[in-house]
Amino acid sequence: MEAQEAAGRGPGANETEQAAAVTPDAGAASTGTGASATRQGAAVSGPGASEQAALTGTGVSPGAGYGPAHVLVGDIPEPDKEARHDGDAAAERARAERALDEVAADLEARGARAGGEAEEVLGAQAMMARDPGLSGEVGALVDQGVAAARAVFEAFGKYRDLLAAAGGYLGERVADLDDIRDRTIALLTGLPMPGVPATADRPFVLIAKDLAPADTALLSKEVVAAFVTEQGGPTSHTAILARAMGVPAVVGCAGATSVASGTPVLVDGAAGTVRLSPSDDEVAQARQADEARRAVLSAATGPGRTADGHAVPLLANIGGPRDLESALANGAEGVGLYRTEFLFLDRETAPTGEEQEAAYRPVFEAFPEGRVVVRTLDAGADKPLAFLPPPEEEPNPALGERGVRMFRRYPEIMAVQLGALARAAAGTSAKVQVMAPMVATVEEAEWFATACRTAGLDSPGIMIEVPSAALRAADLIRAVDFFSIGTNDLTQYALAADRQVSAVAGLQDPWHPAVLDLIALAATAATAESKGCGVCGEAAADPVLACVLVGMGVTSLSMGAPALPWVRAALGRHTLDQCRAAAAAARTATSAAAAKAAARAELPGLAALAL
Ligand code: PEP
Ligand code: MG
Repeated sequence: MEAQEAAGRGPGANETEQAAAVTPDAGAASTGTGASATRQGAAVSGPGASEQAALTGTGVSPGAGYGPAHVLVGDIPEPDKEARHDGDAAAERARAERALDEVAADLEARGARAGGEAEEVLGAQAMMARDPGLSGEVGALVDQGVAAARAVFEAFGKYRDLLAAAGGYLGERVADLDDIRDRTIALLTGLPMPGVPATADRPFVLIAKDLAPADTALLSKEVVAAFVTEQGGPTSHTAILARAMGVPAVVGCAGATSVASGTPVLVDGAAGTVRLSPSDDEVAQARQADEARRAVLSAATGPGRTADGHAVPLLANIGGPRDLESALANGAEGVGLYRTEFLFLDRETAPTGEEQEAAYRPVFEAFPEGRVVVRTLDAGADKPLAFLPPPEEEPNPALGERGVRMFRRYPEIMAVQLGALARAAAGTSAKVQVMAPMVATVEEAEWFATACRTAGLDSPGIMIEVPSAALRAADLIRAVDFFSIGTNDLTQYALAADRQVSAVAGLQDPWHPAVLDLIALAATAATAESKGCGVCGEAAADPVLACVLVGMGVTSLSMGAPALPWVRAALGRHTLDQCRAAAAAARTATSAAAAKAAARAELPGLAALAL
């Protein structure tokens, strides 16, 4: 699933079909995750948050969406703490089990109707509803006399706490669990089933604390103009499904659920703004910008290159074969980051070599003339894998055993993955390259390169995600064939701002000149050895920053496929010299915002994209 677009904002799905910038400087607010409500001066009426002209959060799927707010709030009240059943525990237990079963069956049926990504998401949610541990917990409470609805509430509470404590991808599954709980309680108490209307006279802006897959699965662009949630991050289901649907979305938007249902709302899914009761002019401007952008985006086709013909291969970030369709549809020239851990996030046991081969081969076959860069398992921190647990509790998982460190701890897992990759690569004409995440030292780079070559994989590379690796890139590049810069982690470590802690999200900005300097060091070191240095972090998906990266010597850009048309268009509107001037200007700035502003001033072609 597009969870692999996890780590930050990037243009979402199908922008070419529906994108629009609301303001000429839409990008300027794009890293804003402070989720603060800001007054921006428009005349609005109505109670509560409607008195504020705009709310801001994190834009996770770009484009403009306009329509009346449909707010989902407090659907199912908490069952009474003291609620007891009539004494027939067996009957009450059976009732609870039937309700859970019915909820699971309904989720599966919705999934089957929706198909594709939604089917998998809902299938996973149905599995949660059928979890024997959960129903055992409910049964035990019922045996103590607790009424079924209350027992469900309490049993789910325990699981919820566990997931929330795990944080990251697992933490963001809390909304799924709450949804199952609420649906089960609704069945047990006769309350109406919570949810979203599947049809509407005119598209609405769906606002919620957080959205569960069941809410969104049957929705379409015809019904929903945009999503806005108070909670959730870029890996929440709202973000994933919004991108897959091509619907603008803003998450982490504080105060959103106090907007009155029916309030007209204009959402900018790139800037992360939610404008309440916008003027007709603002709406008309957003529509115009949308049309203009659409024309520019669809006019940019072919391989990535600057206006003066400097080639910059544009590659896709994928998490598995299912992402190929979008990669190909958006004109990816290959794959720059295959996040293999996403194949195995929900596995209890390590995948076999055969299973892995089956997941790698179709990706290689999809790009017979292209390059496919596979990243070895990046387990730990924000991507925990049950079958690769850290050996001890880590107070700072991002600084613990993750990435290549974990790979070294489990050599048998590494041998199986490299073997599977070598076998799958053997039968393909694609240029297969393998890289390790989280490399910090020359010794690690050499160790990984040797392991790859021993396995028959002759083009090993490393990700530059740790400042030490960037600072000593000139030493590391000698050990490997190429670099790929993971700007999500590089930013996290350069600014000491955990990418999972929303309170420090403002520091998680790859535009920061310190990050730009580190990128430049890596690119310069690779160029000196005539080796490639790509970027595969979210920075590559920002069309403005993409120009700056190229100006710093980055040789390829890899991103979530929906961002490709934007980056292709932005690059195609500027010469290499303009990109270099933008990079130089950005690096003389002293803040992320100033760097962006300085770069933009050197990139006149952005105006045509309303960026
Ligand atoms: C990165 O860190 O920029 C990167 C591409 O890897 P991930 O987001 O999967 O950690
Ligand atoms: Mg990373």
